[in-house]
Amino acid sequence: MRTIIVGGGLMGATAAHLLARRGAAVEVLDVKRLGNATWAGAGIICPEISAVTDQSYVALAMAAGRYYPELVDRLSNYDLGFGRTAIAKVRMAGEDPTAFNRARDIVYARQSSGTFPTRHTVTEVDPAWLREQHPLLGDAAEALYYPEAARVDGRKLVEALRRDSESHGARWVDALAGRIVVEDHRVVGVETPKGEFFPGDRVIVAAGFWSRDLLTPFGVDLGLTPHRGQIVHLHTAVDGAGQWPILEGLRGHYILSWPDGRVVAGATRETGTGDAPHFTAEGQHQVLEEAFRVAPGLQPAEVREWRLGLRPAAADGRPILGAVPGVEGCWVITGHGPGGLLCGPYSAHLVISAMLDGQEVPAAFSPQRFA
Ligand SMILES: Cc1cc2nc3c(=O)[nH]c(=O)nc-3n(C[C@H](O)[C@H](O)[C@H](O)COP(=O)(O)OP(=O)(O)OC[C@H]3O[C@@H](n4cnc5c(N)ncnc54)[C@H](O)[C@@H]3O)c2cc1C
Repeated sequence: MRTIIVGGGLMGATAAHLLARRGAAVEVLDVKRLGNATWAGAGIICPEISAVTDQSYVALAMAAGRYYPELVDRLSNYDLGFGRTAIAKVRMAGEDPTAFNRARDIVYARQSSGTFPTRHTVTEVDPAWLREQHPLLGDAAEALYYPEAARVDGRKLVEALRRDSESHGARWVDALAGRIVVEDHRVVGVETPKGEFFPGDRVIVAAGFWSRDLLTPFGVDLGLTPHRGQIVHLHTAVDGAGQWPILEGLRGHYILSWPDGRVVAGATRETGTGDAPHFTAEGQHQVLEEAFRVAPGLQPAEVREWRLGLRPAAADGRPILGAVPGVEGCWVITGHGPGGLLCGPYSAHLVISAMLDGQEVPAAFSPQRFA
């Protein structure tokens, strides 16, 4: 059995790593398209403080958080930029408390229900104390705090997964997949626009937002749209960035610091922009304005780089995982929107377990829901 994986972002790379370690023959076809989401991802790994109320998604995210240490252990020979860090959700002085209260109520209700046990609890902390932990934080009025979040460098993680899969026999090819070739409703391989053919008994579509285009020829509409994200990498001369908690404002933006002084501030969540992978003046303005509102101490920071990604987002906000209906041998792992660095490795694990061991992927994530 030969499996062709289309896409070498975090979903495709994890699938390749898992399959290759199980002794399967694997080929990954990947081109780095402008807008590749993993390349732009900030790196926050924390389901605990999320105000999402979709129970299926929360269950997946919690399981994904618990799965990370196992993944990190398997890749212990590689630098993933993985590390534990705290996270704080902050309401700034003068800001309407509604969103903060709602987030706090959701998190506390989840915690007290005991449905999703965690090692630590989310608590409210004194903003003055939080400013001691994060010297760039501005005038915060209230804060929720969780001490055991994590960060990961998505680029390093994909590179490690790639090298690990290659060391177990996977082959990565720099090629654009043009179409999935099907005979008698069964996958037989993948063809490039230049006519090169890669035979395979199974195809995993893990092409991020572009997964949509590979499946529409079979009448499968995944309802995927690109959510554009613009994000900035700054560098601060203030010491101790590696110890600072991640800061999350109430407008969906965040500030994540790394031990080398890099501070990542983002990100826009743009819908309706199509797949145009370009920066906008408005987007960059929004990112910096929100970063300075929460952490005015960032203003003198050096701008190192802007990144942009097209998050693959499903209409109902849930990942799309499992066998593609009507096309035997075709599987999909996509739709993770803003939470793919957290959920992606566990999602790939679910799909590979379904493929190799016949385990069920929770119905909430099945591509059948779009049939
Ligand atoms: C600004 C930003 C910040 C984010 N921050 C976080 C965060 O802090 N935490 C978190 O959990 N998530 C975060 N995310 C979300 C996360 O990055 C994505 O959900 C995840 O990376 C999606 O991975 P993917 O493998 O599905 O898609 P992608 O990373 O887009 O990978 C798809 C790959 O397939 C390739 N490809 C596409 N079509 C073809 C084809 N026809 N042939 C060959 N190759 C093809 C693409 O070029 C790409 O390499 C963020 C995203 C953005 C944009």
